[in-house]
Amino acid sequence: MEPVAKARPGSVARVPMPMQEPAERIHNFQEVPTGYTPALAQREASRCLECKDPLCVRGCPVGVDIRGFVTAIRDGDFARAIHTIRQDNALPAVCGRVCPQETQCEQLCVLGKKHEPVAIGRLERFAADWEREQLPAPSVRPEPRGGRRIAVVGSGPAGLTVAGDLARLGHSVTLFEALHKAGGVLMYGIPEFRLPKAIVQEEVDRICALGVKLVTNAVIGRMITVSELLEEEGFDGVFLGVGAGLPWFLDIPGENLNGVYSANEYLTRVNLMSAWDFPNSDTPVRPARRVAVFGGGNVAMDAARTAVRLGAEEVHIIYRRSREEMPARQEEIEHALEEGVRLQLLYSPLRIGDDGAGNVRSVLCQRMELGEPDSSGRRRPLPVPNSEFELETDAVIVAIGNGANPLLTGATPQLELNRKGNIVAESGSGRTSIPGVYAGGDIVLGAATVILAMGAGRRAAAAIHHDLQVRFPGIGTTGEFHH
Ligand SMILES: Cc1cc2nc3c(=O)[nH]c(=O)nc-3n(C[C@H](O)[C@H](O)[C@H](O)COP(=O)(O)OP(=O)(O)OC[C@H]3O[C@@H](n4cnc5c(N)ncnc54)[C@H](O)[C@@H]3O)c2cc1C
Ligand code: SF4
Repeated sequence: MEPVAKARPGSVARVPMPMQEPAERIHNFQEVPTGYTPALAQREASRCLECKDPLCVRGCPVGVDIRGFVTAIRDGDFARAIHTIRQDNALPAVCGRVCPQETQCEQLCVLGKKHEPVAIGRLERFAADWEREQLPAPSVRPEPRGGRRIAVVGSGPAGLTVAGDLARLGHSVTLFEALHKAGGVLMYGIPEFRLPKAIVQEEVDRICALGVKLVTNAVIGRMITVSELLEEEGFDGVFLGVGAGLPWFLDIPGENLNGVYSANEYLTRVNLMSAWDFPNSDTPVRPARRVAVFGGGNVAMDAARTAVRLGAEEVHIIYRRSREEMPARQEEIEHALEEGVRLQLLYSPLRIGDDGAGNVRSVLCQRMELGEPDSSGRRRPLPVPNSEFELETDAVIVAIGNGANPLLTGATPQLELNRKGNIVAESGSGRTSIPGVYAGGDIVLGAATVILAMGAGRRAAAAIHHDLQVRFPGIGTTGEFHH
């Protein structure tokens, strides 16, 4: 262990995260931040004030004992740290990497009032990585007996959390996933350089090791309906965690040209189908020298930074508001800028131009200015007359948001939906309009975050367990979560 002096509690300076340099990382898909060493983690953890009333915990949607795990790291007891985290969070290696800590736990950290908050996310990542490297993988438990049978549809963070929690409670869980790999957006959306797929796979394996049966390539609503799961397949409850996988488009001329992708398709081709490894993979993306990305959220940043790594010389993000309104995490915007991505702020695309053979050649953009705030609370972008200009490009990636995919909900007529097509579910329990059917995550909230999907999963698992105990008094489950 390298010698690194301990910081004082309340010390001003945060321990910086070691990273790959931009010039190097734009040529590879390896993770950008390389993680704290044990000594750096201990130093950062020593900054914690050990508050009597740790406000940080109130900012965590799954209520991780943050003070407890941070002080365990400070003491060098990394096994205690990860054990503490796992009491409440089944995906710490994921959350430590992609949670928006700056608007959750770290925003409430007392130290942040005067100085920089404790780097809670980086410490969570450290503890999870230490566990993976130092502790043996958990042994596989036989499928639990004594509980009831539950079907979980969708293996993103919401579904994985429900499956893990119910298996720990002694129920027999089958997890159905439409794609050939489990993990949801963690596997097919968020790129390798932010969230290595081997890490997602290990988290999925841990959940399966609890006795959860995973069935991939299983499109529920097509192969089998929700009511068939309940009535014919003998499941006692169904959780729907099918995400928000339907990409939105702008509905402007030219969106059907070759070389226009939804961010969903683009990222899935690269992450899940290894497009970067063409011709060794079957699903390429067309090589592009200039790429335009529409949107200003994390998905737009991920698509732009992926395009850089696939060899584009110019990548432009076209966003109709200013940088202040961009929904992406600050860190992601900064990383994108360091990697050469250009922000075209206060521009809106009007039309995608054709090269005469059905391929993208350009984007016609219009300058915008900000007016009064709209219903979202953000200032409304207004077109500036006669301000059009043409940006030459060979590929366009549309990353303006996702909505509910009607594949399953459309085949489940008794399920109450809101006007956006999301499932209506009670917030504390995930109960839907169909008895025995629960829902949570993006399919209820609209495109949200990993930790919110997990929080919904935890609450739904507790409600499912409670309802089963009412329906089947005396069922032989453990009645408590076992980690
Ligand atoms: C590119 C990108 C980057 C993001 N970055 C971040 C980030 O940095 N931080 C963050 O907190 N959040 C981020 N998010 C959002 C976050 O990933 C989602 O909020 C979260 O994954 C939602 O979890 P979920 O379990 O509800 O759904 P999902 O992760 O979408 O999982 C749903 C699963 O259900 C499956 N499914 C769908 N229909 C069916 C069916 N009929 N039958 C069987 N299976 C089905 C899907 O294949 C999918 O695997 C990002 C999202 C994207 C797209
Ligand atoms: S609020 Fe900040 S300083 Fe206080 S216990 Fe939590 S992490 Fe430590």
